[in-house]
Amino acid sequence: MDIIKAINLCSICANHLPLPPRPILQFSPLAKILIIGQAPGIKAHESHKAWHDASGKRLREWLKLDEKQFYTPSILSIVPMGFCYPGKAKSGDLPPRPECAPKWHGELLKTSKPKLVILIGKHAQDYYLTDNRKLTERLQNWGDYQPKYMVLPHPSPRNNIWLKKNAWFEKTVLPQMQQVLASHL
Ligand code: SF4
Repeated sequence: MDIIKAINLCSICANHLPLPPRPILQFSPLAKILIIGQAPGIKAHESHKAWHDASGKRLREWLKLDEKQFYTPSILSIVPMGFCYPGKAKSGDLPPRPECAPKWHGELLKTSKPKLVILIGKHAQDYYLTDNRKLTERLQNWGDYQPKYMVLPHPSPRNNIWLKKNAWFEKTVLPQMQQVLASHL
């Protein structure tokens, strides 16, 4: 696809990146499920594979998908808010580059019709949802976004404190989300 070729050649925000641009996404117009996450971490950047790290391992557990299913583009598209590794912040990584989604998402996603869009973390949710809720409130009211969207917290180990504090998410909400997801596979 020409759009994928164009993304792979993109260097719009190269001056703000710590490493040369290396866009990472997985896309098929046929995919029934679309994951919109944050931005690749350094491990995903090095392997050039989306979610190829501890966050990805937990995400696959949450979604009950094995690696083969997860990395099959006709099942799942993976389109982060920023396609390139943004660099380190004081704690964790920097946010996705703000140029990326406005430049590429509209053109790319108009070629697909996923049945379910999974918005992972604050950046993807703030961009795609029209409410002003905080992440925790969105998760408590996740059914409000169905059937189009499913909202998830970021599965990073850096979120372990939030997950511990909000044990209801993995205990009661996640099993319901897994049922919804299974109905789309
Ligand atoms: S993050 Fe996005 S906008 Fe920036 S260089 Fe990579 S593909 Fe281009």
